[in-house]
Amino acid sequence: MDLARQGLAVTVLEAAPTVGGKMRRLTAGGAAMDAGPTVFTMRWVFESLFADAGASLEGALTLSRADILARHAWPQGGVLDLHADPERSEAAIRDFAGPENAAGFRSFSARAADMHATLAKPFMASQRPSMAELTFRVGNLAALWRTSPLATLWGSLGRHFSDRRLRQLFARYSTYVGSSPFKAPATLMLIAHVEGQGVWLVDGGMHALARAVAGLAESLGATIRTAAPARRILVSNGRATGVELASGEQLQADAIVFNGDMSALGMGLLGDPARSATRAATPAERGLSAIVWTAMEPTSGFALDHHNVFFGEDYVDEFDAVFARRTVSARPTVYICAQDRGNGIVAPGKPERMLVLVNAPADGDTRAFEGFARAEIAPRVRSLLKDCGLDISLDPASSVVTGPDGFEALFPGTGGALYGKANHGMLGSFSRPGARSRLPGLYLAGGSVHPGAGVPMATLSGRLAAEAVTLDLPRGRV
Ligand SMILES: Cc1cc2nc3c(=O)[nH]c(=O)nc-3n(C[C@H](O)[C@H](O)[C@H](O)COP(=O)(O)OP(=O)(O)OC[C@H]3O[C@@H](n4cnc5c(N)ncnc54)[C@H](O)[C@@H]3O)c2cc1C
Repeated sequence: MDLARQGLAVTVLEAAPTVGGKMRRLTAGGAAMDAGPTVFTMRWVFESLFADAGASLEGALTLSRADILARHAWPQGGVLDLHADPERSEAAIRDFAGPENAAGFRSFSARAADMHATLAKPFMASQRPSMAELTFRVGNLAALWRTSPLATLWGSLGRHFSDRRLRQLFARYSTYVGSSPFKAPATLMLIAHVEGQGVWLVDGGMHALARAVAGLAESLGATIRTAAPARRILVSNGRATGVELASGEQLQADAIVFNGDMSALGMGLLGDPARSATRAATPAERGLSAIVWTAMEPTSGFALDHHNVFFGEDYVDEFDAVFARRTVSARPTVYICAQDRGNGIVAPGKPERMLVLVNAPADGDTRAFEGFARAEIAPRVRSLLKDCGLDISLDPASSVVTGPDGFEALFPGTGGALYGKANHGMLGSFSRPGARSRLPGLYLAGGSVHPGAGVPMATLSGRLAAEAVTLDLPRGRV
């Protein structure tokens, strides 16, 4: 959109039959539903994208604010809602875990807001900085130090919450960027602040956002070609000059923006000459993958909201299982997006659309997962949910399962990692490449590059790539 509205001739090549990428739809039990991202945050990112293109997000999509950010439940007891209104959340936490933890929520929220204020613009909305550049951009060492770059998220949460369930709840935000809370920096607290600023429900599901963006890009003159996989990036005299499609057709271009996972380039999946563009993530550096069921089934026993999280008892074991033992723990945390809830009401006993997700290792390039998911993980999921009061079947007749191998097939070069490299260690956030690759003429965008994973961040990365292309093209070309 940003390039097309400047009058550049833009062609989008998409391997899949429809636009959307991870923000895809699947049909299960006869119903079409979201099979990728479900939590819509950072609305301002899309508002400014649309506004800069002379359109309005409200005109293209119907969004409603979720009053409940998410419902959380534990098998050992307890259900806790986080609300759009922080005072209601604080009251709910007081009822759930006492006044000390309610005060902890206040101090945690203030700290997360401070981190967001310090880092949002200099890090997220700007071309990838080095550590030194970030320090310069923030211009305030004390504020930067307050973001606790050396502490882990899990460790820092202990300063705010004595109740282990609350630590689990707020630690889970690291999984939004594919990371373990035991290795991710405390800085990721700022995701809690982002969610507190608003979670939105999209009429027609998240896939409607992808369709709206594609529609607006086309109206600005971009050509979108689906079922058009790129086989090779053409390189001449040390510069990317075009793209060869799987059909053999070649397109010449002044600039190419690659929006697949950056590892695909480093692995040579887009041809040997383009390997130099960036280094592939090693399997150990990959972030989380997932086993995802999309299901059309009735549920009973537990009042689901739109976003629901059912926690396993042993969070240490859960992340150790995925990142060290390369498996799924005996009692994995389960996320359920009950897609007909929140805006709609589901009649008791009626089938409803659900996305059910557990974290899994990104080993989809070396192992098959479907049998494992159906035979071993589904029973663990059912048992954990049952202990939280929810009955669900995940029957193969009414559900579709996608594991790391399925994601690897859709998003080559990832092993099924859904969020690029894990954000582990103090420098984790700086390990993603920026918009300009090492190969002149080739630019990078998407959830595996700066500023990070998630739909809004991937969108920001696309805007940063467009900005870099515009600045680098010879004057008069734009
Ligand atoms: C199950 C799941 C749940 C998630 N939950 C959330 C959430 O709640 N909120 C959130 O913000 N984010 C969430 N995410 C993450 C989010 O979906 C991603 O970070 C974001 O969509 C990434 O967008 P992208 O454009 O970088 O990549 P993708 O969506 O992967 O798009 C890349 C596109 O490139 C195409 N492609 C790749 N190689 C080629 C080639 N050689 N030729 C042509 N086309 C090619 C692919 O087909 C794909 O369409 C979730 C992801 C998944 C899978």
